[in-house]
Amino acid sequence: MPLTNSQQLDYVATLITDCTKCPLYKTATHSVPGSGNPTAEIVFIGEAPGFFEDQQGLPFVGNSGKLLDKLLLTISLKREEVFIANILKHRPPENRDPLPDEIRVCTPYLKAQLKIIKPKIIITLGRFAMNYFFPNESISRIRGQIRSLVWQDLPLTIIPVYHPSAGLRNGAMLQSLTDDFKTIGQFLGRI
Ligand code: SF4
Repeated sequence: MPLTNSQQLDYVATLITDCTKCPLYKTATHSVPGSGNPTAEIVFIGEAPGFFEDQQGLPFVGNSGKLLDKLLLTISLKREEVFIANILKHRPPENRDPLPDEIRVCTPYLKAQLKIIKPKIIITLGRFAMNYFFPNESISRIRGQIRSLVWQDLPLTIIPVYHPSAGLRNGAMLQSLTDDFKTIGQFLGRI
């Protein structure tokens, strides 16, 4: 019998937990493979685990996660309906930006997760997730746009938005996030 999506994602998570392909595992407390609905139509992709995510092994459970929950509420989406993951699966020290080599060796895990889940829609949170799909674009230019892309044979709709942590730091970015979630909600027919 073929493995279910959930079983396949669990297997990828064990590979991530055992991974030593970059030095980040040495300073992290837990790996953060991602969580949510294994057959989600919508996947959210952030940057990397922060302090609380590293402590709990779950994505978006700190202040950024609380803001993400509020934004999801505005478009009547529950966490259980979606899958949430990050570009990097271990926390960079002091929440520094991911390095190009870390992204290169870590993103095959994200790719494997997406090929299992086969979502229709991806919301990228922040520039690192946006750049994974659109390497030559700038987040300030394309945030809030509804983009179509065939990626790894998957026909995807990708909507890049700012990372919630940017919204926590900057009122104008919070307004952009709020506006862009309205765009997402309208696209999904949720508002
Ligand atoms: S961040 Fe990614 S590549 Fe680096 S050790 Fe963790 S899982 Fe492996």
